[in-house]
Amino acid sequence: MSRVEMVISDFGGVLTTPLLEAFTAVQDRVGIPPKTFGQALRELSDRDGANPLFELECGRITEVEFQRQLADGLEGLLGHRPVIEEFGQMLFEALDPNPGMIDLIREVRRDGIRTALLTNNVKEWEAAWRSMLPVDELFETVIDSAFVGCRKPDPRIYMLTLERVGLEPDQCIFIDDMEININAANELGLRGVHFRETAQARAEVHALLAD
Ligand SMILES: [Mg+2]
Repeated sequence: MSRVEMVISDFGGVLTTPLLEAFTAVQDRVGIPPKTFGQALRELSDRDGANPLFELECGRITEVEFQRQLADGLEGLLGHRPVIEEFGQMLFEALDPNPGMIDLIREVRRDGIRTALLTNNVKEWEAAWRSMLPVDELFETVIDSAFVGCRKPDPRIYMLTLERVGLEPDQCIFIDDMEININAANELGLRGVHFRETAQARAEVHALLAD
């Protein structure tokens, strides 16, 4: 195996507090449970053959179009059309940076390891998520699904990342809180670390770097 040259990190749920906590906080404000959002998105996917969230994350639809489609889906489930224009903003208000993982990125950089951010994200949210952490200080490059037109766990976005940084898969650790994204990375030969909590993820990254 090659030596590890780079740590590639996810953003939401790794460098931030858990997304589910943020969704639950939004639920308290709008009265729509996270699972109802999931159900609406699944039903829209079955009907239209495309998940609106995935389309948004691949930059193929705008946030406004996403909100319109999601409101359609929720209307069928709730029996009324919810006002969801503020959801994205509420979600960000409920998310906080995760200092333990941000420090890990700083520590590995100090040790000479390169770092990149690989995020499924939304064009219109760029200013909001970037304001949560010093992106340019922490990462030499950002691969954002909404700007490259594909999303994790599509193998193409991992290949694009490797191409951009000029490394082989086994030279890279990849951290993500979604197991499906880790499985896809492992299949390509990256060294996946499935983030469940900060101490566990930090320990696994340090163990891989000590190999
Ligand atoms: Mg995530």
